[in-house]
Order: sequence, then C-alpha cells, then structure tokens
Amino acid sequence: MSKQVIVRNVAIGGGAPITIQSMTNVSVTDVQATAKQISRLIDAGCDIVRIAVPNQQSVEAFRQIRGMFDIPLVADIHFDYRLALGSILAGADKIRINPGNMQKQHLLQVIQCAKQHNVAIRVGVNSGSVNKETLERCGGNKAVALVESLKEYLQIFQQQNFHNVVLSVKSTDVRETVAINKAVAKLGYPMHLGVTEAGLLQQGIVKNSVGIGALLLDGIGDTIRVSLTSDPVDEVLVAKDLLVSLGLKDGVTFVSCPKCGRCSIDLETMAKRVHAYVANIKKPLKIAVMGCEVNGPGECKDADLGLAGSNGKFVFFKQGKIYKTVPQETAFEEFTKEIDKLAK
Ligand code: SF4
Repeated sequence: MSKQVIVRNVAIGGGAPITIQSMTNVSVTDVQATAKQISRLIDAGCDIVRIAVPNQQSVEAFRQIRGMFDIPLVADIHFDYRLALGSILAGADKIRINPGNMQKQHLLQVIQCAKQHNVAIRVGVNSGSVNKETLERCGGNKAVALVESLKEYLQIFQQQNFHNVVLSVKSTDVRETVAINKAVAKLGYPMHLGVTEAGLLQQGIVKNSVGIGALLLDGIGDTIRVSLTSDPVDEVLVAKDLLVSLGLKDGVTFVSCPKCGRCSIDLETMAKRVHAYVANIKKPLKIAVMGCEVNGPGECKDADLGLAGSNGKFVFFKQGKIYKTVPQETAFEEFTKEIDKLAK
C-alpha cells in the first residue's frame, strides 16, 4: 500500500477510495466563469479540481476562488516557481509542478514553502518533458527515461524530507502509460493516473479507459483524471463510470441493450434520460433499459430494476420478472419513482 497524502479534506493513497479529478478550462482570471465550472464539476461528482495558474494575476484570482469553495483545489504551475509560492500562500491545497522545468534552487524554495504550509505537491512528468541527458543515458528509451527522470526528481524531495507527494507519469501512448506507471508504483507514493492528450470524446474515452482501467485492475492508482478535449464535466462522468464499472466506487451500474429488430420503442431516448437520472445516485444498484420484453428481462436477470419495450408500451421488471406495464407517455416518470424508492 502506498503512503497517504491529505489534500484539504480528501485522502489520496494509503487505501483511501480512489478520487476523481478534473481541470477547469476557462481562464482563472474570469473568476465567475471558473466558479461556475467548479460548481458544475462538484455537482457531477468531482473530488479535486485543478486550475491553471499561468501568471501573477491568476494567483490573485485563485485566492478569490479558494474562498468560494470547500473542495480541494490544485494549482497547476509551469516554469515560474514564484507562481507556485504565490499559489501556496493563496490557499492551494496541492500544487502540480514538473520539476524538470524549474531550477533546482527554486524547486527547493517551493518544497520549503509547501512544507511550511502543509501543502501536497504532485510531481508530474510526461512524455513531452523528458530531459535530453536522461534520455541519452537511457539509450533513447523514452519510457525508461521518464521513470528515471521521476526517480531523480523524487530524490530531491526525499533529501528535503518532504513526503507529501503524489506522483504522475503520463504518456499519450496507452501501452507506455501502463508500463511506466507500473514501474513508478513500486516507489510507494500515491499515484495520479491519466493518459495525457487523449483526444476528443470517443477516442479519449477509449484511451483513458484502457490505460487507467488496466492499471486500476492491477491495484495501481489513487486518483484519476480522464483527459478529454471536451467539457471537463465529461471527464468526471467518464471517470465515475469507469470506477463504478470496476467496482471501485458505489453508484448505479447502468445497462442498456444494443437494440435489434425486436425493439418497438425509442430505446435510445429512454436510455439517455434514465442514464442522466441515475448519474448522481451513490447506492450500488443495477438499472436496466432494454429493447424488448421477450428477451430484455431475461438478458438482464440480475438488474434491481429494469424496463423493456413492449408494442409501444413499457414493462417494468425486477430480477427478471415482469411486474407492471405502463404507457409510453408516463413510463419515464413512473420508472424514476421506482428508482427513487430503491435509492432511498
Ligand atoms: S433486449 Fe430485445 S431488443 Fe434488446 S438486443 Fe435483446 S432481443 Fe434485441
């Protein structure tokens, strides 16, 4: 088991539940837009929010936003150590830095400041930021070089007796992501998982699910960020589905059939509405939306509750047994009432 890091009121590692992170994608200096996005992320189930802090003006905006929410906030810093110091003083619960783009004396100042204020540091390297010398030393093998770079940086933190650290190594390549994270997991620190620059929604979901999923199945990973070129809320929803589907988070397992020629109803619309309805239910339920009454209830026998199309109507079923038929017009309302009863 890894060490544990506490970020405000959330634990990362050491056997704590796996947390979901996302990042705002509007300028932090637009405080209202950032606050609105954070509220949406919280509603979607995000546990930790990261915010880019690219300049001094952003530090001040970060301070304002800090005062508006109780969720842990991470300041994402590149290059300028003064922004890291400023963000810590502005109330960041954790900062994310790539030590490779900071001078060592500046990095030491950041570590001291984080120590004084009990702020965690995510030490992150990714495939775009491997140091040339390390790459040469590792015979041009980027994966090995990434892990070596991270180990070298980690030593600096350890020499300062600073262990409030979360590690991340990211690649855009799924296989490489899995291999390097397996190597880094051996270091015993909490791990932040993600496949970087994974692309648009569909491709991004596939790459993140395969990469993060493979690691989680091996017991590696303490906090995840599904990186998508999309609304950050999508990152949270996908991360939640990923964790629920692996049994690593309580929530509704939603099932819907692919539909075939036996289906006589608008299955897709119903499935989307029910899926959206159950998104925030934390109880471990299995809810099914199936295309036909002939096979649907049988195909989904273990569902706590399901509905299936039946000649323009819907039948409701529990554990494979049909118990009610309702007209199409009222089916959604009646079904959600049944869900509410189970979710209580
Ligand atoms: S539940 Fe019915 S409609 Fe859906 S795939 Fe199975 S047989 Fe086809």
